[in-house]
Amino acid sequence: MRFVTIIGAAGLLASLCSAPATAGEAASVSAQDALSRLVEGNKRFVRGESIHPHASADYRASLAHEQHPFATVLACSDSRVTPVLIFDQGVGDLFVIRVAGNVVDDDVTGSIEYAVDHLGCPLVLVMGHKSCGAVTAAHHAFVAHDLQEEPQEILSLLARIAPAMRGLDRNKPTEGQVDEAIEKNVRIAIQRLSACHDLHESLEAGKLQIRGAVYDLETGAVHLLGD
Ligand SMILES: [Zn+2]
Repeated sequence: MRFVTIIGAAGLLASLCSAPATAGEAASVSAQDALSRLVEGNKRFVRGESIHPHASADYRASLAHEQHPFATVLACSDSRVTPVLIFDQGVGDLFVIRVAGNVVDDDVTGSIEYAVDHLGCPLVLVMGHKSCGAVTAAHHAFVAHDLQEEPQEILSLLARIAPAMRGLDRNKPTEGQVDEAIEKNVRIAIQRLSACHDLHESLEAGKLQIRGAVYDLETGAVHLLGD
């Protein structure tokens, strides 16, 4: 991994993980390097020191006919959960799928398979977040049984989150139960993706890693989940 030293506007010296100069360079990243790049970018974001890489007109133009994102991120549609900003990345760096509750259905799986099989993406990160409205609504529906009337399509979405409600510690306050469900919902998404034939083969071949994380809306920090 290369490092560059930059002098910030305040005159402070900072050593930052360098981003690839070309799209082709990004294509050869390992899953571990991809994860490190996300972690380093998130640290910059948390510190308020984002460098907003790969935002120039020249770089944008260089990607007009190809893309080699180094990571795929499945995240919630929540307006505060913005993967490219959270990981301080730029144009062409992340293949992002966003859907309320970061649930996995066939379309989501197909999008991720495309990123892995056709774009050579070595890392998939499933990222839930604190105070997720979709998971909270699923808790209201399937645990507290006090969900207000909702359209069938919303109920169908919540049903995908329902398995995350199984086995929750009912002695915890509601907030603690929702936090537990948010993490379980991420793990269930990983299980569903890992069971997909193509992705399973890539995992077995060592070409792919699928990791989980939870994003903290307040601090901006992304906490990786252990196995
Ligand atoms: Zn959410």
